[in-house]
Amino acid sequence: MDCIFCQIIAGKIPGEILYQDEEVIAFRDIHPMAPTHLLIIPKKHIPSLTHLSETDLPVIGSMVEVANRLAEEEGISETGYRLVVNCGEEGGQLVHHLHMHLLGGRRLSNELG
Ligand code: 5GP
Ligand code: ZN
Repeated sequence: MDCIFCQIIAGKIPGEILYQDEEVIAFRDIHPMAPTHLLIIPKKHIPSLTHLSETDLPVIGSMVEVANRLAEEEGISETGYRLVVNCGEEGGQLVHHLHMHLLGGRRLSNELG
């Protein structure tokens, strides 16, 4: 398996893991774009939103739940934050394992792209 996120899940490469359960894991982005920049991902290797089957759909809800909880822990619940899922080449997806970015701790740009 040459997926970098699967290797973090397997503990084969280090990651600053902040949360995990049976289906979701969250860790700090290696190149933070904001004071808080976390990645929330399913443990199952789903390449992108496009590959999300109906059966896998509930994992998105779990990822949002974990993101909200981590935002609280990071102290940015009140100030605000942004959840982003890039999909495909023109959507800016570089790692082909579904992931949600949690960004906050500064005023984010109003531009979405
Ligand atoms: P994408 O552009 O695919 O939505 O975002 C991929 C994110 O994964 C980028 O923000 C990048 O910094 C992060 N990333 C890439 N490789 C690693 C890694 O090995 N460890 C961690 N923690 N983050 C990574
Ligand atoms: Zn993977």
